[in-house]
Amino acid sequence: MARITLRQLLDHAAEHSYGVPAFNINNMEQGLAILEAADAVDAPVIIQASRGARAYANDIVLKGLIDSLCEMYPHIPICMHQDHGNNEATCATAIQHGFTSVMMDGSLEADGKTPAPYDYNVRVTKAVVDMAHWVGASVEGELGVLGSLETGMGEKEDGHGFEGKLGHDQLLTDPGQAVDFVKATQVDALAIAMGTSHGAYKFTRRPDGDVLAMHVIEEIHQRLPNTHLVMHGSSSVPQDLQDVINRHGGQMPQTWGVPVEEIQRGIKHGVRKINIDTDNRMAMTGAIRKVFAENPGEFDPRKYLKPAMDAMRTVCRQRFEEFGTAGWAGKITPIPLSAMARRYASGELAAKIGITRQAAE
Ligand SMILES: [Zn+2]
Repeated sequence: MARITLRQLLDHAAEHSYGVPAFNINNMEQGLAILEAADAVDAPVIIQASRGARAYANDIVLKGLIDSLCEMYPHIPICMHQDHGNNEATCATAIQHGFTSVMMDGSLEADGKTPAPYDYNVRVTKAVVDMAHWVGASVEGELGVLGSLETGMGEKEDGHGFEGKLGHDQLLTDPGQAVDFVKATQVDALAIAMGTSHGAYKFTRRPDGDVLAMHVIEEIHQRLPNTHLVMHGSSSVPQDLQDVINRHGGQMPQTWGVPVEEIQRGIKHGVRKINIDTDNRMAMTGAIRKVFAENPGEFDPRKYLKPAMDAMRTVCRQRFEEFGTAGWAGKITPIPLSAMARRYASGELAAKIGITRQAAE
């Protein structure tokens, strides 16, 4: 079995200066598409499931699906990650069902929509870190609330996301507070807010530094050179995928995502995990719309799900190549959870604080 923890995978990515896309999963077609792409380019993978995905697919089915993918592709390290855990119980039950990594998103309260006080975030994240590290699983925390710097609004993803309008002080992670947060919680990876948002409608124009604050990543990496940074809402929303949907009866208003070059710039500054869901959703939807538009009489699900898988596989493969993930799977030997637990207990994996980038080099 080739399950790997997020911590081990991102430590490897940091050592070799690459990033790993984290693709969301809800069903078998998406799982197969991700692994076929990974297998084609020898890339390690992060598969993540939101609370919505767990409810949709059922924990038992998801567990069986991941077990099957591990069995089919024993040479590909697979990290199974909980996306946007809202409380301790969500994270604990994820680990119970074979997840090797969880995100405790304490930037919002347990309702998944109310921006939470900093102290709450530290407390709940630390509780999950303690629990997860006892069994060797990894934890991603979040500091700052994800939302658009253009509008001050968030976009709900599977029911998760704030309501109303926030100021830039909450929508941009404070680098000084990030240091304090990592020290206090000992998270393995840190999601930061810098203008990306969930869904397809991230920007109303090609983003510049005013609405996509890459400088925040650089400042945080300067102060926390050993912390793995995570970019959420980082689909690129490619024009060709919008066009396929709209040419075949779709009605998506023109929109812009996060350009791949900006993500590549992030990878140079400590970004190791890049969350991508919308691009894959769009690829599948465009392919399905095309089949229906061209063959209105078609009613065999395989006839449209197969092209959907092909389209998603193409996107996944592109990201593995663009982020430098390709070629590394065969060079990683996954460390079991029990051994990771011993590494945490020994203090070997404690967060390294107080080393600036210059001093570390
Ligand atoms: Zn997210």
